[in-house]
Amino acid sequence: MLSSRVCTLFILLTLSTPLAVVHAQDASTASHVRGVDEASTIMIRDLVSRSATGRDLVDRLDQSDLVVYVRRRLFSTALLNARIGFVRGNCTRRYVAIEIAAPRNYVEELAALGHELQHAVEIAGERGVCDASALAELYTRIGDPVERWGGLVDSFETRTAAETGLRVRRELLQTSAEN
Ligand SMILES: [Zn+2]
Repeated sequence: MLSSRVCTLFILLTLSTPLAVVHAQDASTASHVRGVDEASTIMIRDLVSRSATGRDLVDRLDQSDLVVYVRRRLFSTALLNARIGFVRGNCTRRYVAIEIAAPRNYVEELAALGHELQHAVEIAGERGVCDASALAELYTRIGDPVERWGGLVDSFETRTAAETGLRVRRELLQTSAEN
């Protein structure tokens, strides 16, 4: 069993926020992992400061061409912890968005962010993947379909992402215990 954590790969993303943010930040040398609002930005900062794995994932994405937008949001289902998908299909500039189910236990939210950042690293490593259909193909190839939640036919999981989420969670709990 991989994990009880469920994440979904979007086919079409309906993210209402980013485009203005995208353009505002394009010119800067900001990290490739960007919050779309203050709460999401703080979340990224907390992950980086409290988890060595989180730090490593952000470093790897900073060195890639992929730009990752992160948003905490309320989901209509409790089954979903997080999801990732392309903001738009454009092979000259690749943007994905991660949405984290919130509010939840904060450690779980951060672990979900680590999990999704691992997916972002998987996508970053495949330069040809720049739209939703290529993304679906990639995960059909490298992922396992999540069949437990029958309704979520576009859900896949990778062992690496599941393990990354668990490792981040362990690191976070260890950091809390030391403080
Ligand atoms: Zn996943």
